[in-house]
Amino acid sequence: MTTETLDIKITKTTHSRLAETDFSNLVFGHTFADHMFVADYADGEWKNFQIVPYGEIGLSPAISSLHYGQAFFEGLKAYKHEDGTVSVFRPDKNAARFNKSAQRLCAPELPVDIFIQSIAALVDVDRDWIPTADNHSLYIRPFMFATDPYLGVVPSKTYKFIVLTCPVGPYFSKTLRVKVETEYTRAAEGGFGFAKAAGNYAGAMLPTRHAAEQGFDQMIWTDAKEHLYAEELGAANVMFVIDGKLITPSTRDTVLDGVTRDTVLAIARDWGMPVEERRVAISDIVEAAQNGTLTDAFGAGTAATIAPIGSISYQDQEYTLSDNREFSTKLFKHLNDIRYGRATDTHGWNYVV
Ligand SMILES: *Cc1c(COP(=O)(O)O)cnc(C)c1O
Repeated sequence: MTTETLDIKITKTTHSRLAETDFSNLVFGHTFADHMFVADYADGEWKNFQIVPYGEIGLSPAISSLHYGQAFFEGLKAYKHEDGTVSVFRPDKNAARFNKSAQRLCAPELPVDIFIQSIAALVDVDRDWIPTADNHSLYIRPFMFATDPYLGVVPSKTYKFIVLTCPVGPYFSKTLRVKVETEYTRAAEGGFGFAKAAGNYAGAMLPTRHAAEQGFDQMIWTDAKEHLYAEELGAANVMFVIDGKLITPSTRDTVLDGVTRDTVLAIARDWGMPVEERRVAISDIVEAAQNGTLTDAFGAGTAATIAPIGSISYQDQEYTLSDNREFSTKLFKHLNDIRYGRATDTHGWNYVV
């Protein structure tokens, strides 16, 4: 199923690290499975599709991705069901977004079937690395970067596409104390906030460090112009339940179009819950927190899954949410039931490897 059309040369490791890996103590992004997928773009085409042992790669120090940030990535997960079935969650959505990032950064697109087949083949080779414990999965990190050894500020003519995988457990272990960020900006109109471009995350590091120094786990980014509207929660989409309605900022060039976001909205609609995708004023959130109609708030993302917000701070006031979060609790369970094959996958979201 996985390698029929894509000719992938597979070189397996002679020294698997599987036996010496402690699956009960996984720190996100620290442990890599035995293999990685690598492909090259040159002369206008993708070639050299390979699965090789995970390890270092040699590169020129002049590659333009290191100097000008022509680099972008994706994040998705593979799950192991109780009967041993392995599925990847909605890889077609990540493939489409990968190409949106590619377009914005003047990099070549990667055909959707190559994206999906490379991931399926890699996950298949390392299927023993997929943890089986609850809330555990294999995080998949596809990425592309410019490799021309040339210091001119122009789009590179050559690229590498690599896929790494990491067995992971839960990302956040408690409800989040978040602040509304009104000084720094993650993304501005006309920029590339909608792309999973490497530079977006470098720019977020200092604001995140400042928030941590103030005792916060995460920040709600606001719009670049006025800092009055909610955009995202760190590197996840942000959602609120107010008056029984699910409310989330609409996607625009400053908001990443999250796969988890789309999935959550579809589930809410299936459940007959009113859904509003619109501009979300911080003042509306504060008012709802004050009058008790804000009953739930959470981040939604592949890495973070559903990350409940415990309190929101704005202009030196902290608004604490009740622990009785009916919606996000039920949502989290249902989402996991679909991913681990315990609930019917009515939307066809699980891509079986
Ligand atoms: C990856 C990411 C998300 C979440 O997207 P998913 O497809 O659900 O993982 C949201 N916001 C930002 C900024 C991100 O990088």
